[in-house]
Order: sequence, then C-alpha cells, then structure tokens
Amino acid sequence: MKFKFSANDKEWHQTLLNTFENILKMKIKPVLVYDRKHFSNYIYKEKTNPNTVWAECIKECGTIWLNPHLSTEPKVETVNTLYHECLHIKYPKMHEREVRKLADKMIPVERSMVRKKKSFDIIHRH
Ligand SMILES: [Zn+2]
Repeated sequence: MKFKFSANDKEWHQTLLNTFENILKMKIKPVLVYDRKHFSNYIYKEKTNPNTVWAECIKECGTIWLNPHLSTEPKVETVNTLYHECLHIKYPKMHEREVRKLADKMIPVERSMVRKKKSFDIIHRH
C-alpha cells in the first residue's frame, strides 16, 4: 500500500507530539489516531470532503488524525501539520488563519502538494 505510515513514522510522530505538548504546556493531552472511526460520531460540514484534508482534530479531547498521504510528502509537512493541530487544541478559539500563520512561522514549509490543498484540516468541537 502506497500511503501508509510505517512503525518508524509512528514513532517519530509520537516523539514530536510529546515535544509539542511540553513546549505548548498543553492541558489537554494530544492523542494521535490513525483510524478515522474515532470521528464517526461527527457530522462533516457539507463543503469539506473528508478525503481532501491533511488532518482532523477534536479540540476537547485532543484527538488528532493524520492523512496517510503525508507519508510520501517531505517530513516537514507532517511536523508542520502536527504542530498546527496542537495549536487548535491549545487555543480552541484561535482562527484557522492565525493557527496557520503561527505554525508556518515555527515550522516553515515550501510551497508543495500539501500547500495546494483547499482545506487544510477539519476541526470538531463537542
Ligand atoms: Zn487548522
């Protein structure tokens, strides 16, 4: 299967997540999931096709999903995306624009496939 995270990928994802949790002093612990069934109780906004986003997140419980397509992108894209989702959890009221700006400042990314996505992520609240 082309788009699949390896055990090695999952290890550095988790290491990064722990680091971001500490740096941002997050009260809600971010939890990375690779199975989208965690989001099955949520109704998607009509405009956003769930298959076209890079990440999905539930703010209140810190659940983060990463699109396996990221496995073939430059690693910096995954780092940026993980940090971006952590910001959504840490600052639940922050606007998407501001989250992107902060994440891109901390982890600069080149214009790549990821950047061309119309919708970056889907954020749920309870
Ligand atoms: Zn976002």
